[in-house]
Amino acid sequence: MVLPMTTRLYYHDSFLYDFDAEVREVLDSPHPGLILDRSAFYPTSGGQVFDTGTITTTANDKLKVTEVADADDGRVVHYFEAERDFDKTALEPGTRVHGQIDPARRRDHMQQHSGQHVLSAAFLRLYNMPTVSFHMADDYCSIDLDTPNLTKAQIESAERLANEIILENRPVDIRFATRDEAANLGLRKLPAADRDELRIIDIRDWDLSACGGTHVAQTGQIASILLRKTEKVRQGWRVEFVAGQRAVSTARRDYTALTETAALFSAHIYDVPQQARKALDEIRSLRKQREQSQEELAAAQAAALLAETPETNGRKLVVRTLADRELAFVKLLAQKLTRLSSNAVALLATTTPQPSLVFAQSAGQPFDMGALLKETMTKLGGRGGGSKDMAQGGVPNGDGIEAALKAVAEKLGG
Ligand SMILES: [Zn+2]
Repeated sequence: MVLPMTTRLYYHDSFLYDFDAEVREVLDSPHPGLILDRSAFYPTSGGQVFDTGTITTTANDKLKVTEVADADDGRVVHYFEAERDFDKTALEPGTRVHGQIDPARRRDHMQQHSGQHVLSAAFLRLYNMPTVSFHMADDYCSIDLDTPNLTKAQIESAERLANEIILENRPVDIRFATRDEAANLGLRKLPAADRDELRIIDIRDWDLSACGGTHVAQTGQIASILLRKTEKVRQGWRVEFVAGQRAVSTARRDYTALTETAALFSAHIYDVPQQARKALDEIRSLRKQREQSQEELAAAQAAALLAETPETNGRKLVVRTLADRELAFVKLLAQKLTRLSSNAVALLATTTPQPSLVFAQSAGQPFDMGALLKETMTKLGGRGGGSKDMAQGGVPNGDGIEAALKAVAEKLGG
């Protein structure tokens, strides 16, 4: 049996937000889906996402249309949610329903999609860069251009030209033509579809595209187009853009973010890049200075510790807990101790911010720091390890660190 296709009301009128229809069938899986004889709801296709809205039954139940899809057989499926149990007899085949699409969402989609046609034609006319795909997301849209290079100046020129076409308020007509007729019209892109009749969106003296999407009636209704991120993709260059109210809300969000950043620097928004660069340079230079100071401090402290530690059994055993020292510094100190002296063993710890232990010995000393540390970690409930000459580990809290260091020192004959 050949099922009759859904009559697509949006094909002829993108501004039809209300319509009456007849129920054909209710599908159960995966979600409840309604099939009507005719519909103004746009199903996801050709890069454009679906409309939402409501369908009201004769029993006055309002079904929320959450997604609209194209079935393989040419019918439009309206997936819906009911707020409560609804009268299912009002969805028997042949009963009447009233559909209402969300006009704000439809308007937004018309602005994005028509904006895309204008922009794609601008890239083609200016730089001979064809659009190979179009993607519409909830917050931005993108086109992929078939080009090896795309410069900042080209982006700005295409944006300027697209906005001029919008300002000229050119008529946007819907035309229908056979494939043969269409071949002679000079379409920007002939679709691969095997359909005999093509729907053509005609932006007066600017762009002719075979397209099933919903479009504005005059380019002025697109309002504006703003190009955003560009990135190299496998097939060429991806250009993100926003049109209409989205362009305004995106610019508003950008401005808010930039203003907050500028306030942090007490600067004008246009000076933010320069201020940020300066701040990063300062951070880099301070980090370098700090590293150098830490090195010098560790070397001085190591020298002092070695001077005050007497030799026992032919080696200097340095046992110290340093409060308020980061692990990185403790490691640095252990390094200096075992390099400044050829017979040092260092058992070091820090209690804050993260209680940690560092064991180290000068090269050639006979112990195994990695094994000693592992043993100590088992006692303290921490984790760590290392090599024969240098090992480190963290423990959950500072209790027991002093006692543990003392025990290891005794074992080493200190
Ligand atoms: Zn299109």
